[in-house]
Amino acid sequence: MKKNSISLEVIGGNAESVTGSCTKITTKEHVYLFELGMMQDGHTPLENYHLNSKMLQKIKPQEIDYIMIGHLHQDHIGLIPALYERGKCNAKIIVPRGSLSILKEMWLDSSYINQRDCEIINLKGKNYEPFYTEKTVMQVLNYVEEIESGEIIPISDELSIRYKNAGHIFLSRQAEVYVKCGSHTKKILFTSDLGNLNTLENRVFVEPFEPVTNCNIVIGECTYSARGREINKKTLKLDIEKIKTVVDQYCVDNNHRVLIPSFSLDRTPYILWILYNLYGKDDSFNVPILIDSPLANRLLDCYSSTLEGDAKEKFDDMMSWKNIKRIITSEDSKAAITEKGARVILSSSGMLTAGRSVKWVQNILSCAEDIILFIGYCAEGTLAHKIQHEKEQKTININGKPYKNKCQIVSLGSFSSHMQRSDLINYYKSINCEKIYLVHSDKDSKIEFKHDLEEAISNCSKSTKVTCVNKGTKISL
Ligand SMILES: [Zn+2]
Repeated sequence: MKKNSISLEVIGGNAESVTGSCTKITTKEHVYLFELGMMQDGHTPLENYHLNSKMLQKIKPQEIDYIMIGHLHQDHIGLIPALYERGKCNAKIIVPRGSLSILKEMWLDSSYINQRDCEIINLKGKNYEPFYTEKTVMQVLNYVEEIESGEIIPISDELSIRYKNAGHIFLSRQAEVYVKCGSHTKKILFTSDLGNLNTLENRVFVEPFEPVTNCNIVIGECTYSARGREINKKTLKLDIEKIKTVVDQYCVDNNHRVLIPSFSLDRTPYILWILYNLYGKDDSFNVPILIDSPLANRLLDCYSSTLEGDAKEKFDDMMSWKNIKRIITSEDSKAAITEKGARVILSSSGMLTAGRSVKWVQNILSCAEDIILFIGYCAEGTLAHKIQHEKEQKTININGKPYKNKCQIVSLGSFSSHMQRSDLINYYKSINCEKIYLVHSDKDSKIEFKHDLEEAISNCSKSTKVTCVNKGTKISL
């Protein structure tokens, strides 16, 4: 490569779809990765296994010197330990201050899921190995370095980073990366995932979004790039009212159960906070709120030990709510599932791909008086999607067994943690930069988004270029 040049390549699934974030930055001196997440776009564990194996083949573990992370969702961090499992990797892993305990839980959970998926795949006479084990996770944690946000911190002799709040989930950051390039310094903005500005009021545990005003280039997410329904403060307010109506009607008035399948990391505390705001000060409200997920319970403890100031006070206040019942052991979970009577159950996973929420569904689905409340997007191919879209079917197959399909279903769509399309356009057009590279979306909606963004940019008399990244895109600075 040319002297003093910097090259960037989006080698992850986020080049052409939403999951599997990974960008490789190569300079004369070092190779860096910005994130290395799991691909989760496949319809089966086997498909995902192949997608992730293919992605890993593009990386030589011994060649990577540093890995930087924006936030702690699996599709941004989940494959990192695989580099250390597969080869001699000594890369330092840079994360925002406070991330370590959550990172550990997320990696351990991912190693567990991966092991279980391999066992299922291997039932068909195959011999797939998990990408990494618990043991590797414990070793990889020694490579992690937490750094402060808001200040420029040198990482190597040629590269510095400043984290700024992304507003997406707790501890999520954008990364301003400064790389020396001869006598110049180039500034690259990695947005990682950006937060939904409409939900900030209700997401008191997420640090508010901080816009970046200038840089040379942006590697920008556009998960919500497709034209279509946007959620706003009004739809969110209506959806929160709907949660209240459902809990009042099913639990308070009729002594029945409300199941809310919820992801552990961000969704569980978010929904808990909404419930606490609706009912926490009402002494006559006696409905138990069950948190039935080992991971969610461990992460709630991480929140409590990591949050600071006003957010921590609010969080601890919420967690001391007398109605909250945390279920840890599988025996207690089994017992809770067979009990009838009014209760709200938060259980993971959110899309019913695995975990205790599936066991709850196996019980609740056949009870006509109970209800499942889906909060958020459910991908095609998941059990959640099937239940949402096959209401007319008499039975639903779960793990090869038919279950009577009788319970009530409500789906609410306003709780996304992603920045909405119009806010993405407003943000990107406001940044003074040379070029914006769009990642984290499929090709067609990215092209649509690029068109509308370019129009917005030219309306403010700017000349920023916009490029839709694909697998072959090479960026040189
Ligand atoms: Zn995310």
